[in-house]
Amino acid sequence: SGAPEAHFAESGGQGEIHLVQLYPRDMNIYGDWGNTLTLKRRLEKRGYSVKLTDYNPGDSFPADGDLFVGGGGQDSGQFRVMEDLQKIKPVLHELVRDGVPMLAICGLYQLFGHEFRTIAGQVLPGIGIFDLTTVGGETRLIGNIVTESETFGTIIGYENHSGLTRLGDGQEPLGRVVSGAGNDGEDGTEGAVTREVIGTYLHGSLLPKNPVLADHLIATAVRRRYSHDHLEPLNDALAARAREVAAARPR
Ligand code: GLN
Repeated sequence: SGAPEAHFAESGGQGEIHLVQLYPRDMNIYGDWGNTLTLKRRLEKRGYSVKLTDYNPGDSFPADGDLFVGGGGQDSGQFRVMEDLQKIKPVLHELVRDGVPMLAICGLYQLFGHEFRTIAGQVLPGIGIFDLTTVGGETRLIGNIVTESETFGTIIGYENHSGLTRLGDGQEPLGRVVSGAGNDGEDGTEGAVTREVIGTYLHGSLLPKNPVLADHLIATAVRRRYSHDHLEPLNDALAARAREVAAARPR
């Protein structure tokens, strides 16, 4: 049941989309890989072929990427990528200015801000795509989280972080916390949005449970690359079921 799948599904005839996963070796936990898989499959079902590039520290940077995703990581993983991230900072900023869609989860989200100061007092410089700073806290904020976004509706996921993130005055959050902790467990905000870049604490993985968000990223990518402005609806019955179950589960 549900919407029929795209009639040109799997043909690849709509064109190629270059999907880049940032730092999968060091920054990829709590199912973050599922975000990449979801984008790939939803593109393929709409008739796009997907070129998937893993970008790890020291690799030559795929600046022709159409869509960038990056996951969370332990503080140690963040340390391993921070130097490389500074190197690619200028090109990332250029891509952001060009309206390229990106998704940064948790550990990478923190590094997309100004800095992350760990509980041990070490300072990891970020790249300032978002106007936010993060400070390591005493307790970990763990559990299912439900947030509400004006643009995307109800966003559902799972958070596990000790970093507490404060947004700068003009920084737009991704959503408002309905249940869970969010950016700092206090101000009621979750995540951040700048241009077409979405940052969030939500693992889960995020995109399988939030097809609206996945399709927003995809729509932005195919509009930029091919001026396509229509996405065939997909059957999201399983995602709807997963959302119900996750949202009903108390922390
Ligand atoms: N090390 C960071 C923190 O605990 C990020 C953790 C994560 O990516 N889940 O705040």
